[in-house]
Amino acid sequence: MHYQPKSDLLNNRIILVTGANTGIGREAALTYARYGAQVLLLGRNTEQLQQVCDEINQHSRQTAYWFPLDLETATPESCQHLVEDIARVVPRLDGVLHNAGLLGEVVPMTEQNPAVWQQVMRVNIDGTFFLTQALIPLLLKSASASLVFTSSSVGRQGRAGWGAYSVSKFATEGMMQVLAEEYDSRQLRVNCINPGGTRTRMRASAFPQEDAMKLKTPADIMPLYLWLMGDDSKRKTGISFDAQPGRKPGAAE
Ligand code: NDP
Repeated sequence: MHYQPKSDLLNNRIILVTGANTGIGREAALTYARYGAQVLLLGRNTEQLQQVCDEINQHSRQTAYWFPLDLETATPESCQHLVEDIARVVPRLDGVLHNAGLLGEVVPMTEQNPAVWQQVMRVNIDGTFFLTQALIPLLLKSASASLVFTSSSVGRQGRAGWGAYSVSKFATEGMMQVLAEEYDSRQLRVNCINPGGTRTRMRASAFPQEDAMKLKTPADIMPLYLWLMGDDSKRKTGISFDAQPGRKPGAAE
């Protein structure tokens, strides 16, 4: 995507990122802060979250905060408590990036371990849904909020071996579409990003034979992440966007 955001694109915006300790989520949190947003970092690796938070707070005018969140064990009640803690430090949310995700096992359906299957569904769908339900009142306090889910090419077209992950990403697309229909896009727009093959830990475990240097880095795919959080994407809702349009799914060649 060719997009040249203004350096103050996200001034006065408050944006929450899940899985902000590493990979794409870490990069998104750092990027949003650089473009002027106040960021809230969520994740389960509190040591890494603290490091990202410290890095942001060294340079940013707006104080970043982090909050512990394990989506696998999250309940509607724990998400409500978390949002009460969040509401003590910020008055509203202008953006939420649901980035945290679990790959599970890349094996045929008959070999999918049911326990791992349920783990993937809890992280990618149930926990993400509980958190969304709890966060929506804070998003509705914004003049124009953006809720972004993270999908995948296997969330649009099933692929052999991608089991629980693929099914969970189809459900992510569904959750996005249902929510997008439920809100006026002037108040809350809801979209998905498919990052496309990106150089992260998850990608390396899915494609261990691949030459990672042939992949885009998280920093390379940030233009779409920025565009969807700023006013340039106003009124866009119910859409699944590609951060790397035209990229063929599968291993880098
Ligand atoms: P990483 O594995 O680097 O990051 C995944 C993030 O999700 C980490 O912060 C991880 O935390 C977090 N997470 C996993 N389980 C939980 C949990 N139980 N509770 C809270 N957080 C959790 O992968 P990516 O950066 O590549 O992935 C980011 C998103 O992009 C995912 O949704 C993924 O499905 C999607 N995606 C990535 C692609 C790629 O090529 N990289 C392609 C298509 C989609 P922790 O470090 O503690 O495990």
